[in-house]
Amino acid sequence: MGGTEWQYAKDAFGSNWIAPAGPHITAFENNLSNISNGHHIAALSSGTAAIHLALILLGVKREDEILCSSFTFSASANPITYLGAHPVFIDSESDTWNMCPELLEKAIIARISKGKTPKAIMLVHLYGMPAKMDEIMHIANKYDIPVVEDAAEALGSTYKKSPLGTFSKFGIYSFNGNKIITTSGGGTLICKDKELIDKAKFLATQARDDKPHYEHSEIGYNYRMSNVCAAIGIGQLEALSERVLQKRKIYKYYKDALSSIKEISLLEECEESFSNFWLTTILLAKNSTIDREQLRLHLEKDNIEARPLWKPMHLQPVFKECNSYVNGVSEDLFNRGLCLPSGTNMTIEDLERVVNKIKEIYEA
Ligand SMILES: *Cc1c(COP(=O)(O)O)cnc(C)c1O
Repeated sequence: MGGTEWQYAKDAFGSNWIAPAGPHITAFENNLSNISNGHHIAALSSGTAAIHLALILLGVKREDEILCSSFTFSASANPITYLGAHPVFIDSESDTWNMCPELLEKAIIARISKGKTPKAIMLVHLYGMPAKMDEIMHIANKYDIPVVEDAAEALGSTYKKSPLGTFSKFGIYSFNGNKIITTSGGGTLICKDKELIDKAKFLATQARDDKPHYEHSEIGYNYRMSNVCAAIGIGQLEALSERVLQKRKIYKYYKDALSSIKEISLLEECEESFSNFWLTTILLAKNSTIDREQLRLHLEKDNIEARPLWKPMHLQPVFKECNSYVNGVSEDLFNRGLCLPSGTNMTIEDLERVVNKIKEIYEA
């Protein structure tokens, strides 16, 4: 927690709005809108709920196809299947590790030739690193396919000085406990179009028609954020820029301290992209004498938790029947990459301990 959350949560209790409705939700939405180019915001129970609603608002139906980044957490793809639609996975490029524009276009052309024009593109900004937005949006616009930016890990990141999540039809953020800021659990849908956000709020509160009694002409969901969670979120938003600075310091520390090890490289920002460096990730060289599991277990022995990168969706048992367009990049990243401890409460001593442990195995 940043410090002010407890006061806002007490305000929420004091106001007796202990419900998925109340003044803190509106305040949280307004504050988030102020740092999101004035886009409209629907505060929801999770990032996954936001992705689900985005797809519904895009009119995704059974048997539709959605082009989805393969290198991601499963929550990017799961809501596609809630709707009976099919994810078609697109592999990464190696500059940002996000969706490869060339493969995207190849996939679009191939799906269209099969008579299946993709209904949407689910583009992920993984680990806070901006995807190649100019290229991706150029292709999406050329074929007139709407994009949803899954910026769950990328709040505070920008591309050409604009926040991620604001480049496409819909953006989504997550405030789950592991993200750069948290409401304990929560998420938001963001969009330029107020009508669509109003519709999202309507669907998120069981699609209740404007009548004195409960009248429903559509299927709804219980997806609204709780007022108590929103109160925590107001405090967390105040800490966001500090968090981003801290995450970037952690990245810089690792980058400098590990620069002497030739077998280790770090993901770099491209021109005009600014990452929140949600997690610092390292990549072991193809010819590294030590493999990813050896290094991970070496750290674990000293009670340092490092994790493999996300396992690509096209390699997941649950998605093995899905179509995919692959170039081997994300599979290779999965085999050679590791997330280092990146919590903003880490001290210099903590960081030193991780680095020394890594050096130990390479110098042994
Ligand atoms: C966390 C995450 C989500 C889902 O957000 P929740 O709030 O946990 O539902 C979606 N996509 C990515 C890439 C994530 O990291």
